[in-house]
Amino acid sequence: MIAVDPLCALREFISRHRRLFVLTGAGCSTASGIPDYRDRDGRWKCRRPVMYQDFVHSAAVRRRYWARSALGWPAVDGAQPNRAHRALAALESAGRLTRLVTQNVDGLHQRAGSRKVIDLHGRLDAVECLHCRETAPRPLFQDRLVDLNPWLTAAASVPAAPDADAHLEAPELASVRIPPCVHCGGPLKPAVTFFGEAVPPERVAAAHEALARADAMLVVGSSLMVYSGYRFCRAAREQGKAIAAVNQGRTRADAELTVKIDDDCGRVLHGVVCDTDTQAMVRDPVCDRATAGAVGPGNGAALRPSHHAGQDRTAGNPQRPGGA
Ligand SMILES: [Zn+2]
Repeated sequence: MIAVDPLCALREFISRHRRLFVLTGAGCSTASGIPDYRDRDGRWKCRRPVMYQDFVHSAAVRRRYWARSALGWPAVDGAQPNRAHRALAALESAGRLTRLVTQNVDGLHQRAGSRKVIDLHGRLDAVECLHCRETAPRPLFQDRLVDLNPWLTAAASVPAAPDADAHLEAPELASVRIPPCVHCGGPLKPAVTFFGEAVPPERVAAAHEALARADAMLVVGSSLMVYSGYRFCRAAREQGKAIAAVNQGRTRADAELTVKIDDDCGRVLHGVVCDTDTQAMVRDPVCDRATAGAVGPGNGAALRPSHHAGQDRTAGNPQRPGGA
């Protein structure tokens, strides 16, 4: 294999393919302080996350999940978008994306200004009832949870884990009191797709529809070890579409990639998007810009990283794999 400059490789890929279907994963958010699950070889860094069936069927599992999550949530709530999020928002603004499908549940793409986002695994900023399916904002639930268990705030400063989990082992985990659904009294679950739980079919269909309209696929910060994301690589290959991936470490689709950049995705994307050659290259985009978010003044055709973080805390629009 010939060694090429990663920025050049991605710049060329973007120049050849005007409409990109983007898939992002945990590596996109680690620079924002949100831990990921896997190492460079795609192996688990920590204990396996809670499985859907265990959460649904065991009150003890739910108590442990919510106690740890109560400690992990503030770090997710306070996280800010990084260069990777802003660069992807700029690509969307330039009309170069059909959709951005994320496996992350932190809402950071939206906070960076992206609008054409499919939260494949849901969002952590809401909870949903397992019985009546009503949803509620996570901050309200967090307040109720801490009110019922004041000792949780005293536990503070335990190391954060993926998906708003925290590394806490204490006898109190078994006795934590969990506020129920305010509508029916049922048990609440974060509005994310847990491991072992199916992704809602309408989200998968919307993502496939966007892939069909794209010229190529760009994977950012994902090892693609979870099938819910990997399936889009399979579909892209079946459609004869090129795939580029920017990820530190191996991915499940390495053998199927047209371009593989083993590097920090924030550094690479920021470098490409802020590059003047790229800015000239992406003028007059062919995508439907009417549906793209307007970022920045002027003709908006040039790539421009947006810096208006923290504005899209959309209430009640939750939606991924459960941690703990
Ligand atoms: Zn309910």
